[in-house]
Amino acid sequence: MIEHMIPYGHQSIGEDDIAAVVDVLRSDWLTQGPKVEEFERALADYSGAKHAVVFANGTAALQAAYYAAGFVEGDEFITSPMTFAATANAGIWQGGKPVFVDVEQATGNIDANLIEAALTEKTKAIVPIDYAGNPADLENIKRLAKDKGLIVIEDACHALGAVCKGIKLGTLSDMTVFSFHPVKPITTGEGGAVATDNEDFADKLRTFRTHGITKQKLVHESEGAWYYEMQDLGQNYRLTDMQCALGLSQLKKLDGFIQRRREAAARYHEALSGVAELILPTESERCVSGWHLYPIRVSDTDARRRVFDGMRAAGIGVQVHYIPVHFHPYYEKMGYSRGLCPEAEKFYAGEISLPIFPGLTHEDQDFVIAILIGLMRKN
Ligand SMILES: *Cc1c(COP(=O)(O)O)cnc(C)c1O
Repeated sequence: MIEHMIPYGHQSIGEDDIAAVVDVLRSDWLTQGPKVEEFERALADYSGAKHAVVFANGTAALQAAYYAAGFVEGDEFITSPMTFAATANAGIWQGGKPVFVDVEQATGNIDANLIEAALTEKTKAIVPIDYAGNPADLENIKRLAKDKGLIVIEDACHALGAVCKGIKLGTLSDMTVFSFHPVKPITTGEGGAVATDNEDFADKLRTFRTHGITKQKLVHESEGAWYYEMQDLGQNYRLTDMQCALGLSQLKKLDGFIQRRREAAARYHEALSGVAELILPTESERCVSGWHLYPIRVSDTDARRRVFDGMRAAGIGVQVHYIPVHFHPYYEKMGYSRGLCPEAEKFYAGEISLPIFPGLTHEDQDFVIAILIGLMRKN
């Protein structure tokens, strides 16, 4: 019987976070109140973007970004399969068709050199993922997108607080999407956001979040103070004031959280760099990863399952990130098949995500290291 499972990721909630939520519960506004705008302002300031629009979750934020980008039925978007299915799913909901481009073996991020060959007349957007919190090749992706008139929707759900060439993520793409799920850099329970410098995108994001309803730029003349218009098909993807209060409180601690994740990554690196048949994660050049994950790879992929099972049996909640999106039966039914992205498939075959989160103790981490080294020796 395992009494103490060390998870791969875990939220860090303090008494200050709890007090912030309780304050909202005692206030007049549970949703659509002042905390929403406060949190949006704080997120925009933190990431350096002009606007941040919050959503019920990261998937909703992604869907809104595809909407704001103007997706219509049949538009294509370039993304990679080394991600959670939501990246591609959200585009499909807006009528888009994912075109999967392979990843770099070293980082698991989309290989920017392969994007141009995948573009067609129908390509509307490029959707890179900052895998494990480590920024994708955003500079080259942006340059290509600009050249071809494409929109970059960056799935930075792992990467709030990460830095690329001295710039915090949030302004390096047309829209940058974050998630506040408990395992992510900060949490609001469920939650997400889109950061953008573009006023038009920001307006569309806000409208989509509330049923496509607006009181601005009316089509018909106002019929009175009650008047509003539903101008397009949207959703109810709002985030509550309770959640935004939690987000505000968490955001103050984000840099400290990332510092602790970086320390944990450095300890893993130090302890595991000599281990044969183990490939350790790296940071992109001149980037500072947020270390959402610590994704090791077992180079003898036949041993991955044994190592994974051995760690789980020892009470270590390892995970695999990710089953390539095109492996899922839904995507197979759409016509995608295995072999489409060999590098991503190879990456998946050896991948195991070790526990990494701000509250991971040295003791627990040393236990993870010892168990892993023991299992690797049995190879
Ligand atoms: C978590 C995550 C999402 C979805 O975010 P939710 O808040 O869980 O909806 C999308 N993309 C990636 C890469 C993620 O890790």
